[in-house]
Amino acid sequence: MKLLEERILKEGKVLSGNVLKVDGFLNHRIDVELLNEMGKEFARLYKNDDVNKILTIEASGIGIACIAAQHFSCPVVFAKKSKTTNISEDFYCVDVDSFTHKTTNKVIVSKEYLCEDDRVLVIDDFLANGCALRGLIKLIKDAGATLVGCGIAIEKGFQHGGKEIRNDGIRVESLAVVNSMNADTGEIVFG
Ligand code: 5GP
Repeated sequence: MKLLEERILKEGKVLSGNVLKVDGFLNHRIDVELLNEMGKEFARLYKNDDVNKILTIEASGIGIACIAAQHFSCPVVFAKKSKTTNISEDFYCVDVDSFTHKTTNKVIVSKEYLCEDDRVLVIDDFLANGCALRGLIKLIKDAGATLVGCGIAIEKGFQHGGKEIRNDGIRVESLAVVNSMNADTGEIVFG
């Protein structure tokens, strides 16, 4: 998506450790108009898939998911990071490694909000090694719901998550794919 790529080139900062910082429009200050265009694009890509729920993960996916959901006329469920180790039977639960924080979180979704008759689109801001997506996909499987596909704002194509998940036969649509980036020069190249 040209608009998103241009914005990344204008404002994105390449940090060491393969981290792209986009706090100016996505992860801290949110450009709602840009997110609305991204939401429209997800809706165009998945228009024939009868999506009736969007699933994302706390916290950075919530804004994108909510704006996209308006174009699907469906609710958003966000998987919550849980501090309790005693997870009750009322929740589906999965462990997710965090790429940016180098920690592992228990992530939960209430059984009340994810059901067998759901056709779920997973939305997240970044795709790197795929841990977040895999966690969300497992929650959908545990609930017996149908995974329609994944919608990602920015995929780092040089990391392995996207390739592996697509190899499993799962549809992944990324609005911008970074093929390479350089923390020394700040250069960002799209696929
Ligand atoms: P993965 O689980 O695919 O390894 O990483 C995806 C998750 O880590 C996303 O939910 C996102 O919040 C975070 N993440 C991964 N790479 C980046 C990055 O380069 N920049 C930012 N801002 N977040 C990232």
